[in-house]
Amino acid sequence: MDANSQIANDLHLLTAPIRFLFRCLLALLFLLLAPLLYATIPFACIAADPNSDFSTLALAYLALGPFASAFWLMMVGVLPDVYRAHKEGRIFEANHVKGFGLMFIGFFGSLGAEALFLFYLFPIPRESSDIAVNAAQWRSWFGGMGIAAFLPVILLLGRRLIKKVCAGRQTCRWCRETVGAANLDGVGLCSPCHDAALEEKEIDEEQEAWIHKVKYELHDKAWASDLRRGRREALKWKRRVLSSR
Ligand SMILES: [Zn+2]
Repeated sequence: MDANSQIANDLHLLTAPIRFLFRCLLALLFLLLAPLLYATIPFACIAADPNSDFSTLALAYLALGPFASAFWLMMVGVLPDVYRAHKEGRIFEANHVKGFGLMFIGFFGSLGAEALFLFYLFPIPRESSDIAVNAAQWRSWFGGMGIAAFLPVILLLGRRLIKKVCAGRQTCRWCRETVGAANLDGVGLCSPCHDAALEEKEIDEEQEAWIHKVKYELHDKAWASDLRRGRREALKWKRRVLSSR
């Protein structure tokens, strides 16, 4: 072995950890951006070259789907716990069993949905000489397959939405305070907000003069627009309260 190739070999060995870190970073970036990539890349490719065969892209799409689904199901499942811990001023302690379980379900749920979709519902489109047909076929295939790949995540989000809707409203729609369903009026306001809305006058010269003063004499535009927004909000709620009677 001559000196040059020896140096090249050494360099290759030395940069190995850097290359490894770079690959990890790329993988993380892919996982984070996966929903966005799945929703855009295939459609952009089809738009750019509608006459092409997208089998290679489709294969990558299928193969990476379960990984993206596992990552996002874990994120979506664990984030509310992180948020709650943050809100209560606690340090979030990861439940590894839960995290691993979510990743497991995310991976195999996505794999199963993809397989079902591919073998029963919508096999990879056959090559068609008609450009428009070819593009349309691939577009719907990628659309359907994107839903299949992220099915576990979609189901979890859907379940949460249904739960939220079924739990009914507990918070005031204006000030967002949690006061319980019994303390809300017909349009969903707590009693202080209800009273404040009814007290607001459509034409209120005193208030208008005050806003004018804040804006032009105190030169606080942000405060003035806050006041104005507050008035608009109050009037909106007043109209709703009045029309609900
Ligand atoms: Zn309120």
